[in-house]
Amino acid sequence: MLTTTRVDNAYDVALENFDTAADALGLNNDIRVMIKYPERILTVTVPVRMDDGHIHRFEAYRVQHSMVRGPAKGGVRYHPQVTLDEVKALATWMTWKCAVVNIPFGGAKGGVTCDPKHMSQGELERMTRRYTSAILPLIGPDQDIPAPDVYTNSQTMAWIMDTYSMTKGYPIPGVVTGKPISLGGSLGRSEATGRGVFNTIECACEHLRRQLKDTTVAVQGFGNAGSVAAQLLHEAGAKVVSVSDSTGCIYNRNGLNIPEVMHMKFLTGHVYGFPESEPISPAEQLALECEILVPAALENIIHAENATSVRARIIAEAANGPLTPAADRILEGKGVFIIPDILCNAGGVTVSYFEWVQDEQHLFWDAQDVYNRLERVMKTAFRDVLKIRDEHKVPMRIAANMLGVGRVAEAVQIRGIYP
Ligand code: GLU
Repeated sequence: MLTTTRVDNAYDVALENFDTAADALGLNNDIRVMIKYPERILTVTVPVRMDDGHIHRFEAYRVQHSMVRGPAKGGVRYHPQVTLDEVKALATWMTWKCAVVNIPFGGAKGGVTCDPKHMSQGELERMTRRYTSAILPLIGPDQDIPAPDVYTNSQTMAWIMDTYSMTKGYPIPGVVTGKPISLGGSLGRSEATGRGVFNTIECACEHLRRQLKDTTVAVQGFGNAGSVAAQLLHEAGAKVVSVSDSTGCIYNRNGLNIPEVMHMKFLTGHVYGFPESEPISPAEQLALECEILVPAALENIIHAENATSVRARIIAEAANGPLTPAADRILEGKGVFIIPDILCNAGGVTVSYFEWVQDEQHLFWDAQDVYNRLERVMKTAFRDVLKIRDEHKVPMRIAANMLGVGRVAEAVQIRGIYP
């Protein structure tokens, strides 16, 4: 009997995505074995003196999936549920993601299993610095460049940059992206993921001949990606009827005032209890009658058991891996247009690339320049994926994986094997 539980292992999903794309591309086995698995995996112990004086041991990882097309690139996640398999999956997706938007990076990811919501700034700083020291042999502006991910931010990047620079003896801003502007960060980086999500939604609406204005939207997750996407959709005239964060979901059938929700989130840390809204359950949110659903939090949110209840026409995957393969099949079957994660949320790493380029050149661009370049990259990638979808008659996710995997396969073929 086929049983699908909601706790799909993200790495199994990543491998399955790869195999499907590789089959569709007709890749031979030699190429497959060279690009499928992570090139380097580092597990480290991170001992930290906590505020009460005792030493706590955190387990942490840095996985470099691929350096075929350039230095490894990817964020660092702080979350209680971080596992090595999750980090391997996220590193793998980074490889295909960078290739989809055609930036000269491979893929990597880091993670620390910790509960940042219950740690002080001092504890977070000590943990970040010790983690940086532990992964130091792997990272560097020409090797592997960390960035923010779930529950890490520009301050985390500043600590990594400082620890790395102090160890080397001179400032090396290009070792991380998503830094504060004052340390060589790029304008537009903090909103880049949400902005890229918005750009791909615009493309999807154009493709489906729908007006963005007056469409209804639900956004699950109101962090960096979800809140910015909600804001831009609101500005474009869409009705964002529901948003949520880890504290709860809110709903207003006439559309929420997103700038005010953002203000409340900034002041209180949550969206729950927003005055002009009613609370709904997470299950009700996913089942809302709306045109666009934006899952913008963690993996496996939509799975075999709840996918049938989804009524949206477009799903824009701002999160990495929010749909299980079973959910994918159900939603494809219902004719839902899915903008897959490695395309939809690639705006973050794209502006990370711009930041890295600016650091290398010591020459900085204005915000509009960053936005215009980002929009060009996202819209080109969307068109490229759509073209493969139409030519090969495959779903958007497979088309995106074919584009990413195909570019890496081409590069490895040209490079050949060492020795
Ligand atoms: N964490 C983001 C992602 O999953 C950004 C990675 C980066 O900028 O390197 O794409």
